[in-house]
Amino acid sequence: MEALSRNFFLYLSKNQQLNKLASQYGIKMVKGKIVGGVSFDQAIPFIQEQNKAGMSVTVDHLGEYVDDPLTTLERTRGIVAALEMIKEENLDAHVSLKLTALGLDISEELVRLNLRRILTAADRLGVMVTIDMEDSTRCEQTLNLFQELRADYQHVSTVIQAYLYRSSEDLDRMQHLQPFVRLVKGAYKERISVAFQEKRDVDANYRKLIAKQLDSGNYTAIATHDERMVSFAKHYALEKGIGKDNFEFQMLYGMRKQLQEELVKQGYKVRIYLPYGDDWYGYFMRRLAERPANIAFALKGMTKK
Ligand SMILES: Cc1cc2nc3c(=O)[nH]c(=O)nc-3n(C[C@H](O)[C@H](O)[C@H](O)COP(=O)(O)OP(=O)(O)OC[C@H]3O[C@@H](n4cnc5c(N)ncnc54)[C@H](O)[C@@H]3O)c2cc1C
Repeated sequence: MEALSRNFFLYLSKNQQLNKLASQYGIKMVKGKIVGGVSFDQAIPFIQEQNKAGMSVTVDHLGEYVDDPLTTLERTRGIVAALEMIKEENLDAHVSLKLTALGLDISEELVRLNLRRILTAADRLGVMVTIDMEDSTRCEQTLNLFQELRADYQHVSTVIQAYLYRSSEDLDRMQHLQPFVRLVKGAYKERISVAFQEKRDVDANYRKLIAKQLDSGNYTAIATHDERMVSFAKHYALEKGIGKDNFEFQMLYGMRKQLQEELVKQGYKVRIYLPYGDDWYGYFMRRLAERPANIAFALKGMTKK
């Protein structure tokens, strides 16, 4: 049943017609609940609200799989503008991005050029940029680009997914770059040839990766809403004498608010992933696939004026 509803929402997330309708009519339903609005400007008050509550933010301009080079250039300009606004408005925020929004599916030259423009600005302004990880067919290229660019730029980080068999080795391979790594379980539907299918196996690998990255002394972002994983990371760090400034917890905007607040009260660093943009529909469906109970947010939103 769980797998059925997961597949159903993942199927809906790719429906172009629904996507178009939602971006035209549905933003009111999700603004301030799971996204910050359609533009970076609109997201600013929500970033400030999180900062006031003691939480950092990472923003993400929604919309991946761009197949037109001009759109990737617009995206790049938009991200550079967001980095500048973060600095100007003195926001405690990073930027997350997806390589398929910057031309990964068009040409490697294009995505490299766009990334270099963004990272030059990021280093100049001192704002961290995280390259999100997409599906496994793009993992190798994403990690290769990350490693190439990390050699030239300070303010770049990436993501490792616990459901992939390869991830432990990937983490080892990157350690000499002293990477800031976000660890996640993984959000895409992957084949058994590349990924663990059972939750308990994904969870076991997630714990292993948390321990490995914390032990490395390199900065670790533990991005999960799973209290058992949060608790594991807290206990592991305590046991090994790893300071609270060596790692942070990350959660999606609108999810597990109480847990976020408790962690802040306990002195842990918490970063909220706040998406914006008119392409919010696919993002919302993927969240429903992870946890159909999130539909409560949507229904509440629809009945509000
Ligand atoms: C900040 C952030 C960035 C991410 N970046 C990426 C990325 O770059 N690439 C990628 O593939 N994936 C990314 N993800 C998604 C991630 O891979 C998982 O799909 C997602 O976080 C669900 O897994 P989980 O660890 O939260 O818990 P799960 O294993 O899905 O669930 C465990 C338990 O956690 C609780 N829980 C889980 N989700 C929710 C929720 N939405 N609301 C309330 N409770 C919940 C429930 O109690 C549930 O039983 C990101 C996630 C976060 C939080």
